[in-house]
This record gives sequence, structure tokens and C-alpha cells, in this order.
Amino acid sequence: MKIENVLREIEAREDEIVALTQDLIRFPTINPPGEAYQPCAEFLGARLKRRGFEVEYVRAEGAPGDSDKYPRINVVARREGKRPGPCVHFNGHLDVVQTGAGWTLDPFAGIVKDGKVYGRGACDMKGGLAAAIVAVEALIDSGLELPGALEISGTVDEESGGYGGVAYLAERGWFSNPRVDHVIIPEPLNVDRVCIGHRGVWWAEIETLGRIAHGSMPFLGDSAIRHMTAVLEKFEHELYPALAARHSDMPVVPDGARQSTMNINSVHGGEAESFEGLPAPCVADSCRMVIDRRFLIEEALSSVQAEVKDILDRLARDRPGFRYKMRDLFSVQPTMADRNGPVASATAQAVQDVLGREAKIVCSPGTYDQKHVDRIGKLKDCIAYGPGVLDLAHRPDEWVGINDMVDSAKVMALAAVNLLTRGPG
Ligand SMILES: [Zn+2]
Repeated sequence: MKIENVLREIEAREDEIVALTQDLIRFPTINPPGEAYQPCAEFLGARLKRRGFEVEYVRAEGAPGDSDKYPRINVVARREGKRPGPCVHFNGHLDVVQTGAGWTLDPFAGIVKDGKVYGRGACDMKGGLAAAIVAVEALIDSGLELPGALEISGTVDEESGGYGGVAYLAERGWFSNPRVDHVIIPEPLNVDRVCIGHRGVWWAEIETLGRIAHGSMPFLGDSAIRHMTAVLEKFEHELYPALAARHSDMPVVPDGARQSTMNINSVHGGEAESFEGLPAPCVADSCRMVIDRRFLIEEALSSVQAEVKDILDRLARDRPGFRYKMRDLFSVQPTMADRNGPVASATAQAVQDVLGREAKIVCSPGTYDQKHVDRIGKLKDCIAYGPGVLDLAHRPDEWVGINDMVDSAKVMALAAVNLLTRGPG
């Protein structure tokens, strides 16, 4: 069978892509806490086993959140070709974030309407995983007798950092050479874009300290909230302008994310938020802020941290009574694959062939599991490519376009053929 016939076959399997997406959405794999991971993984494993895959289930014992009630179950399926060759791996995360408010339809029914499948995870990223699976199945059925191996994994906990999913597997060699050569993660980055990496992340908590006193005589105490105001003022006038001026060579989308950014996740000082009745008159002796700093591949984590610490240290020197504590909460290094590497160039070429327009090479504003494949698995040839629309991820009435899923399945099939037949990885 020729490759054109494979593409026609994928078109003919549109209903199958839709049905598989619906099936996946109907498992409410909400994370946290990690609902329905096991039945969802077993559903995929059973399907792939019927197609001749060797299927393994890997529970991330001891990973954050793993328990008998909420086991972190991953599924990895591998199918060897007729002769030796490289391995192309498609990885999708099974978990979804909570639904949140504002839905106008059932988030776990898999409703199809106006050429779209709706539901939590439709776009991020069960639609992409379904497209990858049907693409691989069409290749297997085509009789093309491809060399090498095809792998598909359904992994968990991506939304909470991936430690019970791709990180756990990568630590045990599942995402390393020689087992795997090329990885495509069908995250929702839009059907005509090839995503080669993402920015770094640093979360930290800053606490300013004061001295409690009666609220009618605040001059007898020292307000931690006013000290935090001084921090915020420095952020506004020094840090934010500095971040905005720092541009990356990484092609991050959307444009606003092509610079360093920082979100103030929360600020809280003084009287606890949950009290009944009226508050008591007190000067705040503590104020805490959580920051979410996204940094560029050109920046080092240590300098990102030092920049904030420097502001706090200068305040401690210049502002009477200023005392603070800073605590690192979490960090992720930026990652970027070679845009001319095998998987990025094969996928970009496939986008051109299927859609008739040039693929955009982009980086993601937020992180996803590529970091673990790169840092832990030491496998650089990894990208994200998938059918969902990035802006819809985590929103109410999330959907994925049926035409986009079919197109992306064709792109993934073409890219896989190219990668498997170009010789050893
Ligand atoms: Zn995702």
C-alpha cells in the first residue's frame, strides 16, 4: 500500500478517531487526586494489545499522590516492525485538570456538536492521543512493512509535574536510547505548529515579617503587609520592566510569552481569610506571596533567583524593620529540541504535505513532559505536535476539532514513516 492510501485510510477512520476521543473523555481522569487512571490505562492497553502491541503497565510506586485508592498507572505499548530500525514513540498524558465553573455541557459525556468533540481533556490532550493511536493503527494495517518499532504510551500526572508519569518512566529507561529514538507528544499546540520546547519555571514563596500590635495603635507594631507593599513596588518599578525587556530567541507563542514573565500567584497577610464574624484589630506580623516566574533558555535559574533575592536584600538594607524569608517551591529547566533535528523536520515536512502550508516552529509558554524526556531520558529528539487549540486548554467547554484531529493523524503517520525509513536514529 502506498502512503497516499494510508492518508485516505485515516480519513475513512474519522468516526473511529471521534469514538476513541469520546471513550477517553468518559474516563474522568481528574488530577488531583488522580481519578480513574487505572481503568483508562487498561482501556488503552486492551485496545493496543488487540492490535499486536506488547503492553506493559507501570505503577509509579512512591510517586507523589500514589496510593491504593489513586494508583499512578501508566501504560506503554510497543510493536516491533518487520526488521530492526529506530523507534518512534507517541506519548499522551491521560490526566485532566478539574472542570471548574462555567460549563454549558457535561464535561465527561464526550458530546459531538458542529464538527467538534467537547469535554474536559478533549483538547488537552485526549483528542491528540486518539489521533496518534488511529494514525499508528492505520500504518500497521497498511501493509507498508515498516522497519523499527512504534510505541504509544498513556502516562499520568502531567498536569501536576509528571513525576508519577513520564519522569518516573524516564528514570527507568523507558524514554532513552536505544529503546526510543524520536518522541512526539500530541499536546494542543495547534495543527499547523511544531513545538520544539518550553520555557523554565520557578515558583517561590516570599514572606515579609512584622510585629503584632493593636490595630488602633499601628505605630506600636510593624506591618508585614506594608513591607510586602514595598516588595510589590520594587517589582512594579524594577523587576517587571527588566523582565519585559528580556527577549528570547526561543520562538515562544503567544508573543507576550516571548519574554520573561512573572505571575503573582497569591498574596496574603494579616487576619486569616476564613473567620466568622468580625476581624480583630491587629497589625499583621506576616505577609506571604507566591510567585510564578517563567524564564527563558538564555537565563540561568540561579540568576533568576538571585534577581529577586537581590531586591529583597536591598530592602533589608535600606528599609527600616524589613525582614523576609524566601522559600523555593518548585523549578523546571527550559528545554528546546533542534528545529532541524529528525523529529521536528519530519513533522514540519508532514504539516506542509498534509495542510499545504508551512509549519510554524514554536515553543510553549508553559511546560509539559518534554523536560523529562530531555533532562532525565537524555533524549533530545522530542517535540510536541497535536490537533488541539492551545488557548482552549483548561477552559470551560473545552473542545477539539474533528477535522484537526484527522489532519494531525495524517501528519503523525507521515512523520512516523519518514522517521522509521530514514535509517537508524
Ligand atoms: Zn497537556
